Order: sequence, then structure tokens, then C-alpha cells
Amino acid sequence: MSAAVNTISLSDNGGNLSWPPLQAEREALSNVLASQDEDLFAVLLDKAEECRATVLGNKVYPRGLIEFSNLCQCDCYYCGLRHSNTRLGRYRLTADEIVALAREAWEKGYQSLALQSGELKSSREVKFVSEVIKRIKDITAHDGSQGLGITLSIGELAYQQYQQLFDAGAHRYLLRIETSDPKLFNQLHPPGQSFQKRLECLQALKDIGYQVGTGVMVGLPGQTYEQLAADLLFFVERDIDMLGLGPYIPHPDTPLASGPETVIANPYKTTLKMMALARLLMPYINMVCSTALQTISADGLAMGIKAGANVVMPVMTPEENRSDYSLYAAKKYSSFEQLRHEINAAGYELVLGEWGDSPHYFRRRQL
Ligand code: SAH
Repeated sequence: MSAAVNTISLSDNGGNLSWPPLQAEREALSNVLASQDEDLFAVLLDKAEECRATVLGNKVYPRGLIEFSNLCQCDCYYCGLRHSNTRLGRYRLTADEIVALAREAWEKGYQSLALQSGELKSSREVKFVSEVIKRIKDITAHDGSQGLGITLSIGELAYQQYQQLFDAGAHRYLLRIETSDPKLFNQLHPPGQSFQKRLECLQALKDIGYQVGTGVMVGLPGQTYEQLAADLLFFVERDIDMLGLGPYIPHPDTPLASGPETVIANPYKTTLKMMALARLLMPYINMVCSTALQTISADGLAMGIKAGANVVMPVMTPEENRSDYSLYAAKKYSSFEQLRHEINAAGYELVLGEWGDSPHYFRRRQL
């Protein structure tokens, strides 16, 4: 039963995974993901928990999440923010509002923020975000402190735009590949959005020097266990620093909601297995416990941490904007206090006072 799990070794960068991976390795991962064996599930999560305890201890790092705008040029078939969705009030916080939230986060003891939005790709918009980052750094980085660490999640941009944001002070970037299968990617996005461009963006972010995060949705219509196994190998091959995996949750006002049912038997458990396998394959990465995972199960946070997550994102988006930042239906919002309570109850520690960067990044760069 656990023989399949034992083929996944505990070492950095996939360790003794041969590269390019043998078909047998892809199949082993796919079989673990497809298995409905409860014992295998339990063994896998135990192994991930053990790996994480050995490598990272019991610390969980918060990133104060500010969803500062839901304006979006993209038209992803799965996402409620898509340009064509008119059943949504559109908003963008002002620079002053974002900076005020950042100040509040800093005063509460946060060391990092995640700034997320829909996608506007104009130089005016990038300048806006750059100015906001500089202002946040100005009010927090002094007296020997490096200030608030800034993670961005604002989509596909040009190399120079990523550089501009990095120069302004952002140092981590999340850009999910959504699926590593180009054919499935094309089924999820309109013709103007390309898999190749997404790959180029990930490479640009890495070349510039960001800590780079990516990830996929689990349980998409048309997605297979083989593709999920390939996603894990994609993360290893790309040598990523951070990972965000979440179940796909249909949004009623999107085309994909009326698409075919997923063949992934249990997207919640499959996401947990993906997380556990990712932790075993890449022990030093930072991995977030996604809001989507917490949305589809009351146990999502505790189980996600057990499966290897070491980052959470308490939401700082103003209450009146939250319902309009609807990536998917019934998105759950947890405060810092709620998260801390649950994290403590699970035997982990929510840590203030440290940036909590991805150890993988420093190993990769040999810093
Ligand atoms: N525009 C930015 C950030 C916002 S979307 C970007 O695309 O990077 C952030 C993530 O939400 C996406 O990458 C996608 O993986 C996830 N998401 C969008 N719609 C979703 C849905 N219906 N179910 C689950 N996750 C979804």
C-alpha cells in the first residue's frame, strides 16, 4: 500500500527523481493521486508532516492579503473576476487606502503583505503599484528594519514591468501556471492568453531575482490524474520557490461552471495529496494553505498545514469590497485571530517578527 509513497524520496529538487522523469515516476505519482485507499492517504500526509517538521519546524508565516482591485483585462473561463463578468461591482482601492492598510498590518506586527488584483497591464497601472510599494517601504523600512516584505500576485506583465516592481521593493511573485498541460490551459483561457507567455513570465520573474511562486487548480473539468502528476514534475523542473495549490471551485457567472464535471474523485483530498507530494519532492519551498482549500472544507486549514503548508494569508481587504473579489463562489475569509487560533490548536505557531522567506530560494541561489 505505502510502496507507492515510498517511491517518493525526501530530498531537495526531486532528489533522486531522474530528470527528465521516467514514465514510471510519472505513473507512480499519478497512481498515488488516483488511489482511493484511505491508508495511503494517511501515510502520505504523515510523511509530509514529518518532512516539514524536520526541515521547517512548526512555523507558519502570515502574509496580510490586500485584494486591492478586481478590474481585469483577462477573460479566464474559470474566474469570477473575468472581464466579461458584468454581475460584479468593480473597484480599485486608492493608493492612500492601500498604504493605510499596510500601516495597520505593520503596526499589528505583520512582516509581509501579499498585494493581489485582477490584471491591468498598462504602464500607468504598473506605475501606480510601484508607487504604492515605495510608499509602503518608506513607512516601514528604516532604523535597520527591512520593513514589510512584499509579495505580488497581479498577473502577466512585461519583463520591464516586473523589473520596475522589483526595483520598487517587491521581492516575491505568485503566478500560477493553472495547469502545466498546454492543451488543458487552452481549454481554460481565451485565444489571446497563451501558455507560452505564462512560461515566459515565470522565467522573467526568476531572471530578475524574485522568489517565484506558481501553482495549479485541482479538479478542473477535463483534468486527469496524469496531468496533476505532470504538474508536480513541472514544479520540480522549474525549481520554484513557492507553491499555491487549491481546488477548483466553480463560479456561477463563468463559462466553465456549465462545463463537464471533473473526473478527479475528491478535489479536496486530491489537493491535500498534491500538497503532501510537493512537500516531499521540494522540502524547502514555501507552500501556502490556499483560501480555496479552506473554503471547501472546515478542516482545510489544519489539514493543509499537516500536508506541508507553512504560509497563510489573513485577509485585510476592506469588508465592503470582499464580495466583489469573487474568484469563485462563497470564498471564505479568515481573520488573523481565527487563523492563529486554529493553527495553535493544530500544534503549529503563527509567527510574527520574521519575513519567513522561502528557504528554497536561498539554496537555489546559493546565498
Ligand atoms: N490575476 C492574478 C491574481 C488573481 S487570481 C493572477 O491571475 O495571478 C489568483 C488565482 O485564483 C488564480 O491563479 C487561480 O488559480 C485562482 N482561481 C481563479 N478562479 C478560481 C476558481 N474558480 N476556483 C479556484 N481557484 C480559482
